[in-house]
Amino acid sequence: MKHEPCLAYADGEGRVWDFPDIEPAFRTGRRFVRVDPEELMPLPYGSYLFSLPGRYPVFYNRRNGDFNHIEVSYRGDEICAASAFLSSAYLRTYLPAYITKEDAPVLPLWAYAGLVVIDGEFFVPGVRVDEDPRSDPAIHENDDELRPAIAAEKKRLPENRLVRQLSRCATGYRCLCARNFFLGRYEAPVPTTIACNARCVGCLSQQEDGAPFPASQPRLDFSPAPEEIAQVILRHFSRVERAVASFGQGCEGEPLLRAADLAAAVRMVRESTEGGTININTNGSRPEGVAALIDAGIDSIRISLNSPTPEYYARYHRPVNYSFDDVLRSLDAALNAGIFVSINLFFLPGFTDSEAEVEALRGFLGRFPVNMIQTRNLNLDPDYYFDMIGFRDSESCGVLDLLRLLREIRPDMRLGYYNPPKETFRAVQEIS
Ligand code: SF4
Repeated sequence: MKHEPCLAYADGEGRVWDFPDIEPAFRTGRRFVRVDPEELMPLPYGSYLFSLPGRYPVFYNRRNGDFNHIEVSYRGDEICAASAFLSSAYLRTYLPAYITKEDAPVLPLWAYAGLVVIDGEFFVPGVRVDEDPRSDPAIHENDDELRPAIAAEKKRLPENRLVRQLSRCATGYRCLCARNFFLGRYEAPVPTTIACNARCVGCLSQQEDGAPFPASQPRLDFSPAPEEIAQVILRHFSRVERAVASFGQGCEGEPLLRAADLAAAVRMVRESTEGGTININTNGSRPEGVAALIDAGIDSIRISLNSPTPEYYARYHRPVNYSFDDVLRSLDAALNAGIFVSINLFFLPGFTDSEAEVEALRGFLGRFPVNMIQTRNLNLDPDYYFDMIGFRDSESCGVLDLLRLLREIRPDMRLGYYNPPKETFRAVQEIS
């Protein structure tokens, strides 16, 4: 029989321990909650654990029926809260519960999930939202295979700067998509653009001076030519079944700013093959650029949103020379053209499933019947995010209930984590 979950905490060395018989609390929005142990799952393989500096863990005190925090361990050492970063394809359903000291630093760019201990094992509030294994850590423990594969591609395309960039991504930044390109499987990343016309608070590749945390990886520093881009895509399509190649990666700016060059590259590919899925991940800021790429032959588009609410969108994405209406015009252009349309919705428990956001999302989906929602964890300190967007806390239905509701209101819509190959566009995936 599984025992009750126990509070997890981190000591001064960053080691994670359990506090036996202390019921852990969780967080949704800015509120502490108790969670049914049935909603907890074993920590997914390849997930990371974090200690949260300047933050004391919060537990549920059965004696006074309230939420209290703990500052020291049984040994009397000062402790801090602990958290998990779930591996790819898993969506967290609750945040870690802690109180924050005055002088605590803003947390770096990760998606923090609750963490508890049950019978000596780590458990988390989360759910797998995509069965596709392309970024499963277990299939990426193969550097002995990767190194010769990189050498072979560099030898095959010695002049191609994009291949050299992807080899840096695959090794230096451990980009799983770049590894898949060299290993000849699933989705290949095609970063092309240095500049961006947004200043997203949680941008992974560029943070402004004075930002309280660094970018997670350096921004691309060159502009590959259409020929170099087409070579990489054609190479991938020539050897991968159900291949996907995607513009718009975490290490670059906004690809629509180079729509004409990308359209030229797409034409080169489509002159050579109808096989493979050409996708663009984008902020959707340039509807005319979207139209040009559809004309050239892309198969799908994924537009990133932190929220369907214009105010929250503007405060997070901080658009430069474009507006939320431009994004909606891009959605219209893509839906009217009949390509596969996804929104990349950044989930944060207590915000995305809050009453007002759920209503906004319901209205949005009524107006824009997209084919898929990619349910992604927002990689940002929750308190920093709430302060930056001026979030007004409200009742929330819970992430699992929101997923169920989306299934109900749009049974034809796909929920998942990855850009699907066109061979499966018609499939609707079940989330367990
Ligand atoms: S659109 Fe992408 S590259 Fe541009 S600021 Fe946002 S996250 Fe960064």
